[in-house]
Amino acid sequence: MTQGSYDIVIAGGGLGGATLGRALAGAGARTLIVERETAFRDRVRGEGMMPWGVVEARALGIDRLLCDDGAHVVPFWRRYSGLVPAETRNLADTTPGHTPCLDFYHPSMQRTLLDAAESSGAIVLRGAEVVHADPGKPPVVEIRTDGGTHRVKARLVVGADGRRSTLRRIAGFTLNQDPGRLVVAGVLYEGLDAPEDSVHHFQSPALGQAALVFPIGHQRFRTYFVSWVGQRAHPISGSGHIREFLDACVDTGVPRDWFGRARVVGPLAAYPGADTWVEHPCNGSVVLIGDAAAASDPSWGCGLSLTLRDVRVLLDRLLANDDWEAAAHAYAFEHDRYYGALHRVLDWLTQLLYERGATADERRARILPCFAMEPDRAPDLPGLGPETPSDEKARRRFFVEDRFLPQG
Ligand SMILES: Cc1cc2nc3c(=O)[nH]c(=O)nc-3n(C[C@H](O)[C@H](O)[C@H](O)COP(=O)(O)OP(=O)(O)OC[C@H]3O[C@@H](n4cnc5c(N)ncnc54)[C@H](O)[C@@H]3O)c2cc1C
Repeated sequence: MTQGSYDIVIAGGGLGGATLGRALAGAGARTLIVERETAFRDRVRGEGMMPWGVVEARALGIDRLLCDDGAHVVPFWRRYSGLVPAETRNLADTTPGHTPCLDFYHPSMQRTLLDAAESSGAIVLRGAEVVHADPGKPPVVEIRTDGGTHRVKARLVVGADGRRSTLRRIAGFTLNQDPGRLVVAGVLYEGLDAPEDSVHHFQSPALGQAALVFPIGHQRFRTYFVSWVGQRAHPISGSGHIREFLDACVDTGVPRDWFGRARVVGPLAAYPGADTWVEHPCNGSVVLIGDAAAASDPSWGCGLSLTLRDVRVLLDRLLANDDWEAAAHAYAFEHDRYYGALHRVLDWLTQLLYERGATADERRARILPCFAMEPDRAPDLPGLGPETPSDEKARRRFFVEDRFLPQG
């Protein structure tokens, strides 16, 4: 079944690979998706999609599929403290795309989208692994299955195989990595006594930590605790640290009584918050999308949206140009632009809200009162994502370096 040649071979059937495979197969491309897992489990991955990501989901036609699968529409974003004064933001009313957040259980989302890709005509190979790719015209991909190793040809090979991408390594891309600054720990609760109409965002700049509570439906909540690296003796990870996780969330502002009847229903895992990324994620025969191209710090909850932006931009270029090598390069140029913009803004936010030490404290004391008076100094991450202004003028405005400039 796997012998032969395809228009496109996609390594990885996560959000990125399954969504791209579904769309290309639907457009008539001979599509093979290779997915290592046979069944998906809770890996403590993204479950809260920002409004700017929902715009992409709509453009790709997967928002309905996700909602039919039980995805939870979240109309409000409640901030309890932090950058701007406490507020409840109506997302559909205040975002450019008029979109809410869309939250879901990640394993269920993966199963639904991979099934949908199959229904659109993609061949989906589960329990199989991409182990090698020979560049060349056409590139040849080596796939390991229970039944042995197969070699298939493709017009284009896509690495959608996540933050530890094998394809990225074997294709020889150079991986860049930020210094570790944040650590994010997450777990799934059932029965948390919190309103299900909002993402709950508790930010404590004084402590250099945050807690985020994403309702994913049926009183289940993906809950994250984010802290400055080294603030704690060890990462909060593993079932022995559930109590510590809860206390850390409460220290950051989450009401303790929310947890009164809550049950942990998944693993507690911690991840480094540093971005990893590839400049120009295309080498002609292999193109990277999603976390394989750029895994943005999970603390800021943009990875799902960024992945869908990649899928939409690459798809548009492939459908518009018969020369797929040129189309893939065009995507990579665009990726550098929007990922670069997002990366800049997340760096500013990390500096302002988390950095430790006297200089950081002084900066917060100077800047945060200005944000309280002029909230539009803050980037609109939920609504605009990478399109929130991130040029030098925006940077000066963010760090309130514009106040004392002579007016032109
Ligand atoms: C702790 C944490 C919290 C997060 N929270 C959020 C959040 O709240 N909001 C948000 O937007 N984002 C969040 N993210 C990021 C989000 O989960 C990712 O950006 C998103 O899942 C990336 O999708 P992907 O398809 O690129 O990769 P993945 O979801 O990693 O999918 C890759 C797939 O490839 C398969 N695979 C891997 N290697 C191979 C191989 N060699 N051959 C075949 N198959 C292979 C894997 O089995 C997997 O199914 C979070 C991430 C972490 C770590």
